Order: sequence, then structure tokens, then C-alpha cells
Amino acid sequence: MKEHIKNLYDSHIMNTYARYGVCFERGEGCTLYDTDGKSYIDFASGIGVNSVGYAHQKWVAAVSGQAARLAHVSNLYYTLPGGELAARLGGLSGMTRVFFSNSGAEANEGMIKCARKYSSDKYGKGRHTVVTLVNSFHGRTITTLAATGQDVFHKNFHPLTGGFVHVEMGDIAALRAMDGGDVCAVMLELVQGEGGVLPCPPEFLRELAALCAERDWLLCADEVQTGVGRCGEWFAFQKLGVQPDVVSFAKGIAGGLPLGGFMTGGKCEAVLGTGDHATTFGANPICCAAALATLDILEAALPSVEIKGARIRDGILGMNLPMIKGVRGLGLMLGIQVAGSPREYVQALLEAGLVCLTAGSDTIRLLPPLVISESDIDRGLGIFKSTMGGFA
Ligand code: PLP
Repeated sequence: MKEHIKNLYDSHIMNTYARYGVCFERGEGCTLYDTDGKSYIDFASGIGVNSVGYAHQKWVAAVSGQAARLAHVSNLYYTLPGGELAARLGGLSGMTRVFFSNSGAEANEGMIKCARKYSSDKYGKGRHTVVTLVNSFHGRTITTLAATGQDVFHKNFHPLTGGFVHVEMGDIAALRAMDGGDVCAVMLELVQGEGGVLPCPPEFLRELAALCAERDWLLCADEVQTGVGRCGEWFAFQKLGVQPDVVSFAKGIAGGLPLGGFMTGGKCEAVLGTGDHATTFGANPICCAAALATLDILEAALPSVEIKGARIRDGILGMNLPMIKGVRGLGLMLGIQVAGSPREYVQALLEAGLVCLTAGSDTIRLLPPLVISESDIDRGLGIFKSTMGGFA
């Protein structure tokens, strides 16, 4: 890679990321190119963001057209892209109100505020605890860190925001035992992403939804990683047959620009009112125009997400590699459980021209663009087989 770029980072950017030694310059379709001109098949989508690949003509036209018309005007006024996107998301999800943020952590912060306000409006003070799952990941702000059920992220940042407790995924008895009257919501990822691509058992989800309805706890789905087609439906809750009260999203929604948000419906639709929540860049017109184009493109891609996911899963299992212990996930959100170091494998795959991710302590995570073709999948699988075969 070009040393002067690495030097700029090393000298001027905070050293918070364990970066791989590659500098990407451009992308086309599902192929990335580095500054030396080397090409890579993308099985990572910038951590689940580039759902429509790179430089998609329709997406580029929407972004550049909106940039030329109006980039930003604040939430003190109306703009068409924000309104259209909100209506479109409502149609796709069945939820009825949206708040737009800039990232997943902010989306979850808003979702937590919404849950606390719902309970405070209805029951008064003291019903503020949000239950989340052990091994979950909800973001890096102080409050979403508190929600995150992994101590490794908490170290050095105490005191975290109070009012969060963590229970094991699947432990419905522990949730039933929480009858202290201080709980307002349960927030969870329907497939834990950063924690290792661990899908929630459907039976647990059904029991949890029933318990939340019985106790009037809001069921808050963090769909930052699972949402917007990643799992084979617009939202994973639709695939898993549960109805959340609040749903957050981010990552893939705008195909590469920063946009997130949370949606409400039913009994908590109108909980947040004027002055309760705000963010300067929320519903940014360029991001919303990008999201509208992304949704148009994904409409055609969505029916094949599951088929493509199965092609990757079957391809990997069919390689019979000794370090592969199994493949988990939904749609094009896949986790390959491995013996050995996932980071070492991902480094070798990158060197061989395939971009992958890690998750948890023993998992290679794949989040390819949802528009990936069968031939790109097969090229990626070919690289995977020869590279991982070298470790066998
Ligand atoms: N929630 C989940 C499920 C995530 O996977 C992530 C990021 O990986 C976040 C929240 C935080 O999103 P962001 O990094 O956009 O703040």
C-alpha cells in the first residue's frame, strides 16, 4: 500500500482501529480496488453498509442530483426526500413513524429514550430499566455501551449510563423473574452481529414478545445490522414472525452514506413529541435520496438474498475444511465458526483478494453486498477455498 497514506493515518488519526494494511481507492459492482490497482471481491460491504455495491449508476445519480439541488437545510424545514423515505419505510415495515439519525448508536439512543418516555408517560417515575442480552452489541456511546452486553467494551469507560441489565439469550425464565416493576423495555438484535452472528431462537422470540405484551414492556428490535434486506426480508422481525414496538436501523439503509433511525407504531407511535429529540443532520436530503435509490435497487435484489446466502453456506460447508465448525446466520448475514484465529484467516483472505470480517472470538463474518452476483459469489468462494485450504 502507499506508505504516505499510512503515515498520514499513523501521525494524525487516533489509533482506535486495528486496521488491515490495505488502502482502498475505488469500487465497482462488488469489486474493490486498492491504491496499487489490486482487485478484491467484497464479502463485507463496509460492515454491512454497501448493500448495493459500489458506484451503482442509479445510486450515484440520486446522490449527485440531490447534492446539486440541496445538501442540507436542517429539521426546522420540510424537504421531499425525508418525507418520501419515511413513507416508504412505513410501507416496507408496517411501522408508522420514523425519526432519522446519522448512525446505529444514535438510532438506539433514540429508541431507548422512546421506551423510557413511553413508560414515564404512562406509569410515572421509576420504570426505566432496559433489558438487553449478554453478548449483544448496540453501539459505542456511553448509553449504548451500557446497553451492550459485553464487558470487553466497558473497560475504562465507567460510570456508564444506569438502568440496563443483561440476560442470556434464550433465558425466558430470567426475564419472567424480573417483576420488580422497574422495567420499561427489552432491546435486542434478532441476530447478534458483532457478538458472533448468533440468531435468536424463534421460540424465545415468540415467548419474549408475549411477555413484553403482557407486562407492557416495549419490544425494541435493534435492526442496525439485520435490517434493510440483510436477512432476506426488509426487516428480520418480518422473517422471524415477531412484531416489535420500536425498530432501529442504520448501516445498509443509504447504501454507503451515514443514515440511521428508529421507527415506532401502535401504542408508542406518538410517544416522542416536539422538543423530545433532535439531531442536526437527521433526514439529510442527500442521505435520504441515497436511501430511496438504495431501496429501489434492493427491491429487485431482495427475493434472491436467501438463495445467495444458501449458495455461500453450502459452498463453504461443501469444502470440508477441517477448521470450519459450522455456518450460522440468516440471508446474507453469515458467520463461519472456525478453530484457530479468525483475524489471521481474514488477513490471509484479504491478501488473496477476498474482503471478509471477524465477529466474536471464533467467527469469520460475511456481509456481502445484497446485489452480489452468483459469479462473484463463486469467485469469492474459490479464493476462500484455496486460502483456507492452505491452513489445513
Ligand atoms: N447496533 C448493532 C446491532 C450494530 O451492529 C452496530 C454496529 O456495528 C451498532 C448498533 C452501532 O452502529 P454505529 O456504528 O453506526 O453507531
